[in-house]
Amino acid sequence: EPAPVPSDCLFCKIVAGEVPAEIVATDERAVAFRDIAPQAPMHVLVVPRDHHGDIAQLAAADPELLGAVVALADRVAGEQADGQFRLVFNSGPHAGQSVFHVHGHVIGGKQLGWTPA
Ligand code: 5GP
Ligand code: ZN
Repeated sequence: EPAPVPSDCLFCKIVAGEVPAEIVATDERAVAFRDIAPQAPMHVLVVPRDHHGDIAQLAAADPELLGAVVALADRVAGEQADGQFRLVFNSGPHAGQSVFHVHGHVIGGKQLGWTPA
C-alpha cells in the first residue's frame, strides 16, 4: 500500500497535475517527465503515482510497482533515445536525494561517462 502522502510532496503534485511538468509518458501506475535541470540529452524522471519515499521503501511495499517504474523507464529510453539508458535512484540526502518521492533518473542520449562519486 502507498505511504501517507506528505501534503507538500512536489512529485505527488506533478502526478496530480497541480504543478506543471513536461510529461513524456504515462501508464496506469507511473508518470515520466523531463527533469527541470537536465544533465544529458535525455534526462527524464520516472515516478510511481503512489507516494513512496525511496527505492527501498518502494521495493518493500510494492515490488510490482518498482517493476512498472523500470518498464516505463525502458519505454521512455526507446522513445526519447536509442533504447539504452542509465537509471539512477538517489536514496538519502548524502546520495543526492532532494525530493522524497521515489524517482528514477532516466539518463542517456549520448555516450555516458562514469563518475558516480
Ligand atoms: P534527486 O536530487 O532527488 O535525485 O532528484 C531530484 C530531481 O528533481 C533533480 O534532478 C531536479 O532537477 C529535479 N526537479 C526539482 N524540482 C523539479 C520540478 O519542479 N520539476 C521538474 N521537472 N524537476 C524538478
Ligand atoms: Zn509524493
